[in-house]
Amino acid sequence: MNPNLHWSQTSSRLLNACPRAWVSTYAANLMAGPSSPSGQRLGPQRRPTLDDAMVSALRTTWTDYLEDRFVGTVWSKPFREQRVKRRLSDAMEASKLKTPSPKLALHLKQGVHQLEALEQSMGLRPVMESPGTRWAYFERLDGMDINGVRMFTAPDLAFYHQQRWTLVRIQFRSTSLQSMAQQIEHLLMVRWAMAQAGFPNEASAYRVKVIRWHRRRWLEHHVEVNERLLSQADALVHHDVQEMKWLLRCWQSDPSLKTIPLAQDVKTCDGCAYRKRCPAGQGLKKAKKAQERELLDVLQSKETKSLRTV
Ligand code: SF4
Repeated sequence: MNPNLHWSQTSSRLLNACPRAWVSTYAANLMAGPSSPSGQRLGPQRRPTLDDAMVSALRTTWTDYLEDRFVGTVWSKPFREQRVKRRLSDAMEASKLKTPSPKLALHLKQGVHQLEALEQSMGLRPVMESPGTRWAYFERLDGMDINGVRMFTAPDLAFYHQQRWTLVRIQFRSTSLQSMAQQIEHLLMVRWAMAQAGFPNEASAYRVKVIRWHRRRWLEHHVEVNERLLSQADALVHHDVQEMKWLLRCWQSDPSLKTIPLAQDVKTCDGCAYRKRCPAGQGLKKAKKAQERELLDVLQSKETKSLRTV
């Protein structure tokens, strides 16, 4: 088995939320090998909503904006609105979404406001207000091979300020609190930068900043960078990769998915694209019990068999 393994926040979160959904999303393409066009993002693991389309539109518009800003082109307000509208319409078309005009207009207004507020955020001032600042922007799809795993952990933005590189993660939607695991994930931006030509390879040369949208405003915080926390980030990737390998082995020996663990929480099943074909579609608790019974039966029949052969 030589799966084309990669690590990204999307893949890791799905893996930890529902191994069965992770296998359904990634297994076939990963096992197709490096020539597979996939490797990274695959079909949606849940039905896209208008808000998903909005987030996608905001992210692509933001990248467009940075591209233009990098070469000194300034956007006017009507141009920004027009661009968000275009990107949202593309994202909705791709997801086959339709919505009444007044609702769409409201979402557009909120999206434009969100982007304007981001440009004015404290954390981005060295880029937005000091023309002399060295900076660069990246796409999440800029992968990098680190210790045999393709890592999709590029920062959204990096700038040199006060003798260090600040690596910025921008989250267009976020929950009220960030877990310790999420903080550790952000540190993987440092690993990515350290492996990148043109960036220093000592952890002490970096700051990590997270700018995240929550309840209609941008919140900002720093994540401490040190060798101990970086080792924890490496361990997180190692753990996920071992888990991925184990799941792929289970799936290869029984592609029916019967042996693959189900979601941790019933909320993960809400809107899951695999629900119709998943036993959890009739209730997660019931499906988990049935799976446990089935696995126990298999184990017991194996034990009985080996006793008979003694
Ligand atoms: S319905 Fe629930 S258990 Fe089944 S694949 Fe989706 S998230 Fe996992």
